[in-house]
Amino acid sequence: MRDKFGGQGARLARQIFALLASGVIFGCAPAGDSSNATPTGDETSATLRIATTTLPLADWAQQVAGPGAKVTCILPSGANAHTFEPSPREMRTVAEASMLLRIGLHLDDWSDGLASANREIKSIAVGDLMRTNGLLPDVTSVTIAATSIEPDGIEATHDLDNEKDQSHDDDHDEVHDHDHDHGDDGTDPHFWLDPLLAREAVTLIAEQLALVHPEQAATFRANAEAYNARLRSLHEDIQTTLSTTARHDFATFHNAFAYYASRYGLQIAAVIEEYPGKEPGDRYLRGVVEKLRAAGIRSVFAEPQFSRRAAEIIAREIGGQVAMLDPHGTADAPPRDTYIGMMTFNTEAIAKALNE
Ligand SMILES: [Zn+2]
Repeated sequence: MRDKFGGQGARLARQIFALLASGVIFGCAPAGDSSNATPTGDETSATLRIATTTLPLADWAQQVAGPGAKVTCILPSGANAHTFEPSPREMRTVAEASMLLRIGLHLDDWSDGLASANREIKSIAVGDLMRTNGLLPDVTSVTIAATSIEPDGIEATHDLDNEKDQSHDDDHDEVHDHDHDHGDDGTDPHFWLDPLLAREAVTLIAEQLALVHPEQAATFRANAEAYNARLRSLHEDIQTTLSTTARHDFATFHNAFAYYASRYGLQIAAVIEEYPGKEPGDRYLRGVVEKLRAAGIRSVFAEPQFSRRAAEIIAREIGGQVAMLDPHGTADAPPRDTYIGMMTFNTEAIAKALNE
């Protein structure tokens, strides 16, 4: 008996216990099917549950963990990743997961409380790890033109008197609005919009998953390698699309495209909403309009997670059009529900603007 169950069987039992203890729930049937309660004894039948704060992270996690993993994006479709406030529903999602993947760099600080709700969960801030590993370049130079617009200040309203509250009024050379929503050192969190940085993130996710589930490490690494080959093709396609455009500067809705612009030799001429989720003040909007007129830019972008109002005001002022960019992705709007689809959608919109 010992020979039969003492070796591999005992090892398997330990692994099953470890998976149960780490909050992983067994079963390969859809949620709600009660037939999945009993483990089969086959370790590959364990459903790996991963929660992510944003949609691109969810796609990467699914690609790396494989089709058997249950990956849930916490952020509801259409919600603002910068200002989201989680409810008990999101708490339950995280309570069932063994890993929480976050962007970090202060983008999704709203998930801090969620992680502490499940003491067994492994919480990974991918962007923070990338910064620690020296993988994130300084991309502030691509937004120099955009940030030379005098901001309205953190208390920006449509009351022009509030401009007097701006403590750096006389210091025009200083870049004011880089770290309001970024890492401790002002690191821009939107690294995923550069497909080559996305490859680094995917590799990192595979390594983190391998630490938690070493028995599946080879699968995670092979999945990451296969997906990274697709990201390499995506990068080459974007490069080809952008290599022949008439101009090299564009205006974005919020300041999400610095890594993208840096990778493809573009400049961000203006950013409409200086604080994501907070409508810009009149003075700042006038600055954007002047900037776009001077540059001869006719396309203004809105984003699905934000109010279109500011973009529409500017488009009317410059006699231009409102188009759409979706830097955070939208779960119920294919092709923007996958990372590659979202990147292709954004590239087509940017290329169109650069060819006007
Ligand atoms: Zn953003």
